[in-house]
Amino acid sequence: MIREDGYKFCFDSSACASCGGACCIGESGYIWVNYPEIEAMVEHLKLSIEEFAKTYLIRAKNRYSLKEYKDEELGYACIFFDKSKRMCSIYEVRPKQCRTFPFWSQFKSDTKELIKECPGVILDENS
Ligand code: SF4
Repeated sequence: MIREDGYKFCFDSSACASCGGACCIGESGYIWVNYPEIEAMVEHLKLSIEEFAKTYLIRAKNRYSLKEYKDEELGYACIFFDKSKRMCSIYEVRPKQCRTFPFWSQFKSDTKELIKECPGVILDENS
């Protein structure tokens, strides 16, 4: 069970094995990546930076985000979400944004959406 200061919940990461990737699909959003993270993904996929950028990145708000694809069943999904395996296809090199989920600052005060989305999140009894 993972707990972090300032959050009114704890997180059971064993739920990830069976949830079907709820945090990688659904509504459209940004999956921010920085340059070291891009380099790690490039190395993992054995691509050039140019090939990687063309295939997997969009530029938004002066930053880079992973692309998404639209799917009838999933809604929007991260381009690295493997629909058949229902998991991240680059798990070992996924960006910090993914590794730190669900401990995102917006969930410090509002857990309503989070609790619906993530079966690994367990609210503290008095919250
Ligand atoms: S990089 Fe992996 S963990 Fe992050 S949103 Fe995409 S599929 Fe999910």
